[in-house]
Amino acid sequence: MEEIKQTPRIALLPSPGIGHLIPLTEFAKRLVFYHDFVVTFLIPTDGSPIKAQEAVLNSLPKSSINYVLLPPVNFDDLSKDVKIETRIFLTISRSLLSLENALKVIMANSHVVALIVDSFGTDALDVAKELNLPSYLFFTSNAMTLSFLLELPKLDASYSGEYRDMTEPLKLPGCVPLHGVDLVDPVQDRKDEAYALLLHQSKRYKLPNGIIVNSCLDIEPGALMALQEKSPDRPPVYPVGPLIRTATSESDGSQCLEWLDDQPRGSVLFVSFGSGGTLSSEQLTELALGLEMSEHRFLWVVRSPSDTAVNASYFSAQSAKDPFDFLPSGFLERTNHIGLVVSSWAPQIRVLTHGSTGGFLSHCGWNSILESIVHGVPLIAWPLYAEQKMNAVMLHDMKVALRPQFDENGLIRRDEIAQVVKVLMEGEEGKEARSKTEDLKHAAAANLSENGSSTKSLAEMALKWKIHN
Ligand code: UDP
Repeated sequence: MEEIKQTPRIALLPSPGIGHLIPLTEFAKRLVFYHDFVVTFLIPTDGSPIKAQEAVLNSLPKSSINYVLLPPVNFDDLSKDVKIETRIFLTISRSLLSLENALKVIMANSHVVALIVDSFGTDALDVAKELNLPSYLFFTSNAMTLSFLLELPKLDASYSGEYRDMTEPLKLPGCVPLHGVDLVDPVQDRKDEAYALLLHQSKRYKLPNGIIVNSCLDIEPGALMALQEKSPDRPPVYPVGPLIRTATSESDGSQCLEWLDDQPRGSVLFVSFGSGGTLSSEQLTELALGLEMSEHRFLWVVRSPSDTAVNASYFSAQSAKDPFDFLPSGFLERTNHIGLVVSSWAPQIRVLTHGSTGGFLSHCGWNSILESIVHGVPLIAWPLYAEQKMNAVMLHDMKVALRPQFDENGLIRRDEIAQVVKVLMEGEEGKEARSKTEDLKHAAAANLSENGSSTKSLAEMALKWKIHN
C-alpha cells in the first residue's frame, strides 16, 4: 500500500466531448509509460450518454489509469438552443464542488502532484489553488488557436464591433492571417453568452503553471516559436504533440475494414465530420450526389441531418433517426460498387491507417487533422463549428488540404464537391497535397522520437512535477 501511495498521481479533468478526452488519454499514457506517474480522470457530465467516452476510458490500463465519474450537473434551466460551448463551460463550472470533493478523497489516499484541466476547464484552476496543487492547462487544439485565445482579452478591449466585420485580417505572431469570419465560433456573436464565457476563460489562461499544447514544432513552427518566447502575459507553453490514438486502442468496425481490404491502394476518400458534426438535409443531399458524380471510391460516415445546428450530435455521436432514410432515393444502390456508407461512427484511426485510404474529407477537428497528418493522408477541408474554420485556413496555407467553395447560401454544391474530390484524388494539386502531407508525417513523427522536441518538452514538465513534490 505504502508504495502505491508514493507513486506520483496526476489528476486530469477533461471537458465533455470525445475530441477533448482522446488527446488527454494519449497524454495520460505517455505520463504512465515514460515517466512512471499514475493518472486519475475526473469526468464531469450533464447526464448525456457517454458511451463513446466510456469505451475510450475502459480501454486504458486499469492498474495505472483510472477514472471517477462526477455526479451529473443539472441543465433544466438552460434553453434548448444554447451554444455547445456554453453547455461545455457550464458542465465544468457546475461540477466544481464535486470536483473538489473527489480530489480531496483522492489526495487523502495517494500522492497527487498536479491537476490538469483542458481548454474549457479554467474555472477548475481555483480548486487546484484551494488544494495547493500545481495546475496546468492542456490545450486540445492547436498553437494558432491558443495564440488567438491568449490575444482575445486585448482584442476585446481594443475592438468594439463584431469581429466578422473587421476589414483587416488578424495577424497573430507566427500564424497565417485570419479573417474575422474564420475566427472561432463563439466569438462570431459578441452578445451571445458563449462569447462572455470564452472571454472569461481566455482571461484565465495566464493562471496555470504551464500550458501544454497538442501540436509540435514541425506542424506549427511559427506559432509555437512565438508562444515559447518568454512573456509576462502567459505561462510557459509546452508542445507535446502530435498525440493521437493508435489503431490498437480503437474498438471494432470490421465492416469498414473488410470493405477497405477489397479496394485498390490509395483509392478511397474517407468522409467524416468528427464526433458530432451534422449537415442540413439539403447539404446532405448535395454531398451524396457530389460523391456519386465524382465517380471516386468513398467511405462515408453519415449522420441524420439537422437543419438547426452543425453540431447536433456532439453530446451523443449517434444519430437519433436512421441516417440512411435521409439519403437521396436510389443513392445507395447506384453507388454500392464504389462506396460504403456507415451510420454515425467509424474506426477512424484504422481507416486512416489502411492502405486503401487516399484522402480525407474532414470537418477539420484538430484530432482528425493530426490523425490525418500522422498517417500521411491529404485532406479536403469542410469546417463546421468551433475553431474548424481557422484550422481550414491553416491547412490550406500548409498545402495539405484543398478547400471547396461554399455558395451564397452557405452550401457546397454537388458539382463543386465532385470537382474537389477529383482534384484531390487524381489532380496535380492533390498530388502536391499528398506529398506535403507525407513530408509532414515524417517530420511530425520525429517530434515524438526519443530526442524529439515534444518528448523533451514533456520530460521537462515531468521532472518539475517530480522535483517539486
Ligand atoms: N472519431 C472516430 N470515428 C468517427 C468520428 C470521430 O473515431 O466516426 C474520432 C476521431 O478519430 C477523433 C475524434 O473522434 O479522434 C474527433 O475529434 P476531432 O477533434 O477531430 O473532432 P470533434 O469531434 O471534437 O469535433
